[in-house]
Amino acid sequence: MEKAEAKKKIDELKSIIEENSRLYYVESAPRISDYDYDHLLYELEELERRFPEFRTSDSPTQKVGSDLSAAADSRNFARYPHRYPMLSLGNTYNLEEIEAFAQRADRTLETSFTYSCELKFDGTAICLEYKDGKLFRALTRGDGVIGDDVTENVKRISNIPQQLKGYGYPDDFEIRGEILMPYEAFERLNAERIEDEEEPFANPRNAASGSLKLINPAEVEHRGLWCTLYHIPADSMEYETHDAALRAAESWGLPVSDKRKICHSIDEIEEYINFWDSERKSLPYATDGIVIKINEMAYQRTLGYTAKSPRWAVAYKFQAERALTEVLSIDYQVGRTGAVTPVANLSPVPLSGTVVKRATLNNFEWMEMLDVRVGDFVYVEKGGEIIPKITEVELDRRPVGTEKPVFPSCCPDCGTELVREDEQAKFYCPNETGCPTQIKGRLEHFLSRKAMNVIAGPAAIDKMYEMGLVNTPADFFDLTKSQLLTLDGWKDRMAERFLSSLASAKKTEFEKVLFAMGIRFVGETTAKAIAEHFGDIDSLAAATMEQLLEVPDVGDVIAKSVYYFFRDEKIIEEIARLKSAGLQFSVSGTVEVKSDALAGKTIVISGNFSVSRDEIKGLIERYGGKNSSSVSSKTSFLLAGTKPGPEKIRKCEELGVMIISEEAFRALLPELQEEMHKSVKEPEELTLFG
Ligand code: NAD
Repeated sequence: MEKAEAKKKIDELKSIIEENSRLYYVESAPRISDYDYDHLLYELEELERRFPEFRTSDSPTQKVGSDLSAAADSRNFARYPHRYPMLSLGNTYNLEEIEAFAQRADRTLETSFTYSCELKFDGTAICLEYKDGKLFRALTRGDGVIGDDVTENVKRISNIPQQLKGYGYPDDFEIRGEILMPYEAFERLNAERIEDEEEPFANPRNAASGSLKLINPAEVEHRGLWCTLYHIPADSMEYETHDAALRAAESWGLPVSDKRKICHSIDEIEEYINFWDSERKSLPYATDGIVIKINEMAYQRTLGYTAKSPRWAVAYKFQAERALTEVLSIDYQVGRTGAVTPVANLSPVPLSGTVVKRATLNNFEWMEMLDVRVGDFVYVEKGGEIIPKITEVELDRRPVGTEKPVFPSCCPDCGTELVREDEQAKFYCPNETGCPTQIKGRLEHFLSRKAMNVIAGPAAIDKMYEMGLVNTPADFFDLTKSQLLTLDGWKDRMAERFLSSLASAKKTEFEKVLFAMGIRFVGETTAKAIAEHFGDIDSLAAATMEQLLEVPDVGDVIAKSVYYFFRDEKIIEEIARLKSAGLQFSVSGTVEVKSDALAGKTIVISGNFSVSRDEIKGLIERYGGKNSSSVSSKTSFLLAGTKPGPEKIRKCEELGVMIISEEAFRALLPELQEEMHKSVKEPEELTLFG
């Protein structure tokens, strides 16, 4: 290969790798398989070896993939440097390279040593710092040099102690490990996302990294994350071996990785690898290989590090389980929000204990990228995912005469021309009020268990719709017993049970009613956050885009969807009918009042605080105050965190409403003063902006 050609290829590979690295680490949404990614990296390494003059220090072969979000990202976590760099691991898919690793260590150390073999957990790396036995800070790997501060989120992970037990721990030390999402929590989360027509996470690893970077710590608690710790930097503690350091950490109550084994020879390492290659399938969480580490801390120091990984450890990666099968046909399914999803029907093939007959093709772009056709032989993977995925097409086996599938331009159900909204991967059928699949889907969703929880199966609902009895959710509440008795097979008892279930549903909390309304992109947790933020449907319906963006974890796409939902006259009419049927359209719930320090005060909050916005709102209520979402002449004061909404500040200035900081606010609440920083100033001095 000519130099110029090599340079061009190197630049091209670098930019493809960088983009996929960003999608993987920052967006938690990879587009190619790990195997393909590793292959690209290997190709780049080979070229850089042959043409070292083109190897630069910013090459992906020389640095770890960064999970730091862009500076403009609204999540904006504080960042801190790592005391010791957080690196990756050299990894291989073959045993010969493990042998080569052992021989290299032998040659350098020229003495006997042991190996700590452990599982390679497939999650996202975390660094915990404990000071005086208390959890002080948690940082993500970031770019290896600095990490995002996710302490508040980590505090919501149940098996991470905030206070160590026992004795003998150093005053200040770091321990590292992995945040994982066990399969059960992952399946629950993805099932919810699919039901809400949100893009499911590709695998538990992406779900764990995405969840760790949520803005709302309260939501992290519901994600069911779990932690396992496996590394104490050699310079941070005085233990002779890695194993002894981890055993000490375990005695302080830290969740240390179990299933480790001290091995003395390459044969023992191979035995360990072979055992876990099959046994790992019975573990409740994902693992993607085995890590082999030199156990003696002194030898770890001798071997040291490359720019990207330690020389005293190596990972052996398992091949993802996949199967080869034929694409028989491609269907296009319409969901309740009108999204059209391509699905491949496959020649049945056994994979990870189930028989796979269908696999999602996600969206138009994914289909294009795979270039999949009917008649093709494809690889299906199911590495912990609930929905099998087609990852590769065997182009060599493509039969002659296949044709590129044409993504439908019209709705496969009602024939309306499909639309694609800016920056969205999916095509939608815009015929919301006339497309039968969407109407039936919305009705079923409204009555479903997690929404209004009314007993009625999809077949019964379809029948009600087909007989013209219901078209929108409000119609359910106008149904009479005699109408229900006209349905095929419905007798007195069935009709009565259905009507009584509908009557009980009128007590359903506002957050669930909001979820039941089926606003595009508003899943269960988002509905809860929105309901808590605005308190009632009228404030929500009147909210501006800016106010919607103040809800934790609500970004542009959700805010836009909610905003336009409430600008639709038919929806407003529907809400009026549901209101008169007696459904709950405001947050109720009793709050234990702690003191009346804020009695009679109507408070609006804006911006980010040292704790979640929900916690601030809870404080206001516990101290007798009332939360409101918009500034008016009745507002007692605006409680402003960092980055308060400029529109709210302008309104306060216009109406002469006082604006106070979080510190000043906390100083108003006597019992909270001791929790404050030592340097609390007088509240008057702390008044911000006005
Ligand atoms: P890695 O995941 O291959 O290995 C390093 C990581 O393993 C460490 O950072 C640590 O978090 C983890 N680990 C788990 N158990 C451990 C244990 N017992 N001891 C020590 N560490 C342990 O490396 P990486 O740099 O995090 O990621 C690179 C991998 O990510 C690549 O192999 C590639 O497959 C994948 N990737 C894929 C894409 C894609 O588009 N599909 C993009 C970027 C990266």
